[in-house]
Amino acid sequence: MTGRETAYIVDAVGKGHLSGNGDYTKACQRWLEDSFGFNKCLLTTSCTDALEMSAILIDIQPGDEIIMPSFTFVSTANAFMLRGAVIRFCDSGAVEPNIDATAIEALVTPRTRAIVVVHYAGVACDMDIIGALARKHGLYVIEDAAQAIDSTYKGRYLGSFGDLATFSFHETKNIQCGEGGALVINRPEFRDRAEIIWEKGTNRSAFFRGEVNKYGWVDLGSSFLPSELNAAFLYAQLEHLADIQRQRKHLWISYYEGLSNLHADGLLQLPVIPGYGSNNAHMFYAVCRSADERNRLLAHYKAHMVHAVFHYQSLHKSDYFTSKHDGRELPQCDRYSDCLFRLPLYYELADDQLQHIVRVTRAFFGR
Ligand SMILES: *Cc1c(COP(=O)(O)O)cnc(C)c1O
Repeated sequence: MTGRETAYIVDAVGKGHLSGNGDYTKACQRWLEDSFGFNKCLLTTSCTDALEMSAILIDIQPGDEIIMPSFTFVSTANAFMLRGAVIRFCDSGAVEPNIDATAIEALVTPRTRAIVVVHYAGVACDMDIIGALARKHGLYVIEDAAQAIDSTYKGRYLGSFGDLATFSFHETKNIQCGEGGALVINRPEFRDRAEIIWEKGTNRSAFFRGEVNKYGWVDLGSSFLPSELNAAFLYAQLEHLADIQRQRKHLWISYYEGLSNLHADGLLQLPVIPGYGSNNAHMFYAVCRSADERNRLLAHYKAHMVHAVFHYQSLHKSDYFTSKHDGRELPQCDRYSDCLFRLPLYYELADDQLQHIVRVTRAFFGR
């Protein structure tokens, strides 16, 4: 919380329009378009919903294939499986958990329709390689930019590269409204249909703009609009983006400096920010040398009242997907599942608390 969230909610109530697509929704969308150079943006009730809208927009049919990393959140894959897609999971890189861009082309078949990239921890995937591959094979690129607000690739904001991109404003993200998200539409020919899918498959938005004289059912859709209450909260957060980001980057750098000796001694793999990317300080993660060491370290944190946690478990080995996977080993993905952990990182975290966490970490390794 940064200050104006509840005042804006009270204001939204006073305006008497609490359903979606009111003043605060429009203000948030405009703010995101203007700040990050997006062609068009629609607020959604979650990033999950924005991903589901993407699958409808690119008209996924049963049997169409989608390439994506296995080291990601369930929703990245689930949104496309709901439309009958076949997911072809790709491994992560050796120095960072992002999709290994050099391993994608081997997975392309005549049925492949799209590459979904996930900018893990807000760090950009290699969009030049991925963009070139997509053009060569006629594939859509969708960015799951859930964690990537305010982050760049070669100086341009993430979310502006894909045909479509999705953001999350879940309370675990840098900017939040409890549950919320956004769909970015960078292809002009998707604009009108995106709005229809957003409004339950009706042309309601065009009707209220006076473009049609009655509104009705014109396409597939669902209820993807958030309430004005959520948008009001979100707008207060967006206004404070610079302040939130300054504090998060300060904390991230303090962790990095505090743990860099452990990295130099080969005890911990620390995050790598490639030269083409920026750091939006979404997450501070590190990678142990074995699952056993990671699990003992998590127990050590718990004993010292530090809330450190592991992260994604390989989707290709999940209960739901194992029987659907094509059997390929994805060793880097499994390594991050087994050995990666995340440290507390949030706006209110105090410097002395952070230094305590650094000392607890060093003590585990006897340093
Ligand atoms: C948080 C997250 C999601 C889901 O976001 P919701 O807004 O909770 O639906 C999807 N993908 C990634 C990579 C995420 O980090």
